[in-house]
Amino acid sequence: MTMAVDPMIKLGFPIEKPEPPKDCKVCRALVAQRETAVELGDLAKVTDCNVEIRNHHRPPRLLAAQ
Ligand SMILES: [Zn+2]
Repeated sequence: MTMAVDPMIKLGFPIEKPEPPKDCKVCRALVAQRETAVELGDLAKVTDCNVEIRNHHRPPRLLAAQ
């Protein structure tokens, strides 16, 4: 078993930037919003956009089936 270990933990800024499929209009709008938020330095908004993008294409959960 291999475990990925981050060489360094950065605090304060969410590193993950989900890249949505290019043909999703919703995600494209979210990416545009995210870029605006980055320019404004609104990190809370950036995080919100990242979460929404990620959730928009989240793989289906098997747990919900039962
Ligand atoms: Zn999407």
